[in-house]
Amino acid sequence: MALIVQKFGGTSVGSIERIKNVARRVAKWKAAGHDLVVVPSAMAGETNRLIALAREIQPQPDARELDVIATTGEQVTIGLLAMALLDLGVKARSYTGWQVKLLTDSAHTRARIVSIDEKAIRDDLAAGNVVVVAGFQGVDAKGNITTLGRGGSDTSAVALAAALNAHECHIFTDVDGVYTTDPRIVPEARRLKTITFEEMLEMAGAGSKVLQIRSVEFAGKYKVPTRVLSSLTDPMLPVADEARSGTLITFEEDPHITMEKPVISGVAFARDEAKITVHDVPDRPGVAYAILGPIADANIDVDVIVQNVGVDGMTDLSFTVHRNDYARAMKILKGQVQSHIKCRDVTGDEHIAKISIVGMGMRSHAGIAAQMFRSLAEEGINIQMISTSEIKITVVIEEKYTELAVRVLHKAFELDQE
Ligand code: ADP
Ligand code: ASP
Ligand code: MG
Repeated sequence: MALIVQKFGGTSVGSIERIKNVARRVAKWKAAGHDLVVVPSAMAGETNRLIALAREIQPQPDARELDVIATTGEQVTIGLLAMALLDLGVKARSYTGWQVKLLTDSAHTRARIVSIDEKAIRDDLAAGNVVVVAGFQGVDAKGNITTLGRGGSDTSAVALAAALNAHECHIFTDVDGVYTTDPRIVPEARRLKTITFEEMLEMAGAGSKVLQIRSVEFAGKYKVPTRVLSSLTDPMLPVADEARSGTLITFEEDPHITMEKPVISGVAFARDEAKITVHDVPDRPGVAYAILGPIADANIDVDVIVQNVGVDGMTDLSFTVHRNDYARAMKILKGQVQSHIKCRDVTGDEHIAKISIVGMGMRSHAGIAAQMFRSLAEEGINIQMISTSEIKITVVIEEKYTELAVRVLHKAFELDQE
């Protein structure tokens, strides 16, 4: 008998019929002798609907109140799922994030988990209950309701699995695993049986929304065996088959992972970033800090950064931010920063996309970047910015070429081949 945390995403709980299917699936695992903690998201589209309601009142919603509103979606699904389980004769109890309690910092709409008080959950499990915990939500030290950022239920689930020292964390979603790229963009994409934690971290960071990046960070930090699998299969699929399905995130030191890894494992893309360029700033120490310091102080994450070679003692500095932070970043730069560093201009471009190739094999292979740039050049796609890590190469391009670039790179690196 093992303790398993199972998370079900928005599509997986998108209708009453699907919630009943989730209950059947969970009941099946329970009947196989396991202890279950189940973490549902809000019903598909619900979080978007709630945020849109908030924006009708305040175009830039107050973050604390937005969290109060956005968390209601998950409060509905925990109750419905617990009822569906009870209806099947399975003992179940639901809890919100603040009941658990899942303590976070106070960064509303993007809070980080500080600790989880798992005692009540353990007591409930010991009493034979399936414990249903709302994803995406927590509470700060002062009792304010917080959320973990879009897609945050993944992180709730993996963090609970870490806190409870679960045997495995199952992320049930609307695809049957992690693919070489988003199968909605490239139908030839292949499912990966395993992906290393490092690769998954880079894929998530580069925009593959199949897992929220913080959930992958938790999985890595606490070595939580995490599996991505489909909730759209027959809910009565035998447990032994389901337990082997999907994609398992592995840790390199796992001795049984001896499989020869391909050079490139996947292509990821992000369409939700914007590029900002600060023109003609003095090319001297402290300037990058003068520009990016106030951005960091405003709690805005900066991603790809490029500084050009200075001409006549002047240089340009470009970087990307999340599109939600674009207006705020521009305001800071055009205000206090521009008057302080006396740059010529600050311009922005919201129509960019970030395309990345990721693979452990890159570490031991030369020429991967050149091959990537050649493939894009052959399609006439201009590269605006480049950044690299040990196992990832990212380019920023015009947004309208996103799908073409992903398809071209997927083919160029033969990801469609076995
Ligand atoms: P959930 O609501 O279950 O959390 P998400 O929409 O957040 O589901 O994530 C699943 C989606 O991620 C898939 O439907 C797919 O379109 C997208 N996706 C992006 N990249 C990948 C990838 N490499 N492999 C699988 N799915 C991916
Ligand atoms: N419901 C939240 C969202 O849509 C959290 C999640 O689905 O993981 O972002
Ligand atoms: Mg998700």
